[in-house]
Amino acid sequence: MAAATRPAYSLFIGGANVPGTKNETRTVPDPSTREPFATVAVGGADDARHALEVADKAFRESNWASDDGARRTKALFRLAGLVEADLEGFAQLETQNQGKTIRESRFDIGFVVRTLEYHAGLADKIEGETIPVPGGRFDYTSVEPLGVTVHIAPWNYPLLLAVRSIAPALAAGNAVILKPASLTPLSSLRFAQLAKSAGIPDGIFNVVVGSGSAVGEALVDDDRCRTVAFTGSGDVGRRIQEIAARRMIPTTLELGGKGPVVVLADADLDRAAKGIGWGIFGNAGQMCWAGSRLLVDESVRAPLLERLVALAQKLKVGPGSSPDAEMGPLVSPEQQESVLGFVTEAKDAGASIVTGGQRYTDGPLSQGNFLPPTIVDGVNATHRIVREEVFGPVLAVQSFRSVEEGISMANETQYGLLASVWTRDLATAHAVARRLESGMVVINDPPTTFPQTPFAGFRGSGLGSEQGRRALEFYTRRKNVMVNVGRLKGPAK
Ligand code: NAD
Repeated sequence: MAAATRPAYSLFIGGANVPGTKNETRTVPDPSTREPFATVAVGGADDARHALEVADKAFRESNWASDDGARRTKALFRLAGLVEADLEGFAQLETQNQGKTIRESRFDIGFVVRTLEYHAGLADKIEGETIPVPGGRFDYTSVEPLGVTVHIAPWNYPLLLAVRSIAPALAAGNAVILKPASLTPLSSLRFAQLAKSAGIPDGIFNVVVGSGSAVGEALVDDDRCRTVAFTGSGDVGRRIQEIAARRMIPTTLELGGKGPVVVLADADLDRAAKGIGWGIFGNAGQMCWAGSRLLVDESVRAPLLERLVALAQKLKVGPGSSPDAEMGPLVSPEQQESVLGFVTEAKDAGASIVTGGQRYTDGPLSQGNFLPPTIVDGVNATHRIVREEVFGPVLAVQSFRSVEEGISMANETQYGLLASVWTRDLATAHAVARRLESGMVVINDPPTTFPQTPFAGFRGSGLGSEQGRRALEFYTRRKNVMVNVGRLKGPAK
């Protein structure tokens, strides 16, 4: 797109589009073609501090927090309606910015709408309690918002993962600052315009685009930030946790995964193959909860692999905007390189690439960040491709000879986000689920979640939990109020 006709996006602070103190911009490329199609303002630490000041003032001076929750319920339902009315516009923007297929983007934006509705429904049901105490006393708790909450999002589900934590924070009455990933800020900036139209007061919802080291750290390392909801890589999560520990503020950390998919001998292999395919090739494998390690009973390894290879080779790879594309490009050339690096290293270490594994060398797919669905066999726990998160469309295959061995291989990882089990025997499925060290387990299904179900990682996959009723509690604090009402006198006789 010619430079003059590219849409330009600004930061959103205090209910207004602002250019950022340094007046810096950068171009945003389409991952399918690497051609720039938009420009976006890039903020720095000063913009982060400005947003903190504006949000803190709005929290204290607007009645967003002090009104009863009904007002927030109405505003969030209005916002959900506005996003739904513009679902196609959002989906096209997400696809152009992130690369995912238009079908995936439509699903994501639908999830955003549902998340807003779910938390809209909770905003007027945040209640304290009364607690019986001795003497002439009355005791109650009140549930309060925290103040300014900071939300740092990754690039794989740009708007969905931002709204996952923003919606409960807003429902609870906080003032929110979102820092989207530098690669994918556009849908969040479009969302900000609608937040204003929905009646969310100026300063209660802000978006600051910029690097993690400048904007992200300035937001977290400031007295006005009362909590951080972080979704991203383990290294950055640890860095945020260090700052938060020094500042004594809570965080939720939603980090990476290395999802085991345990297929038992009695599984329905046709269903399993479809579910496994979705779980690793969906969003071009750029999913924290991807089922990237296939652990299959040796007795059904060959027929399952045959089905998976057929599925991988039939999958239509193409630009996300093409209506029949089933898998889009990776988000950036760097991500494409990083994924290929894992595959090459595994091959050099003796693994066999059953299908895929190389970039496209001619035709339109060679112009973008595309990779084919890839299956790597002959790997073991010493290979980096089995131990580390690849974050691309690459399935590593291992097999086991007993359910016991399958469980221990599944748990042989630093991560614990989502694990899958495929079997026709539900009693065994539940027994295996109990022993898997993962925050989420799916039985006979691809990775699946809803706004009302917890999304949580164990061990290296994170701390705390998003989604569901309990997520809202994280954005509140509970105050105990004890009142001495004096000696209670009975009614005069
Ligand atoms: P990343 O950690 O590089 O970046 C995430 C966000 O943190 C970005 O907005 C980035 O700008 C910001 N950031 C970077 N350095 C920072 C710093 N020092 N201080 C503050 N903020 C900083 O992750 P990514 O590459 O954008 O996303 C991919 C990772 O996210 C994968 O590991 C994936 O598994 C994980 N992820 C987890 C979940 C989950 O729910 N568990 C969901 C999606 C993605």
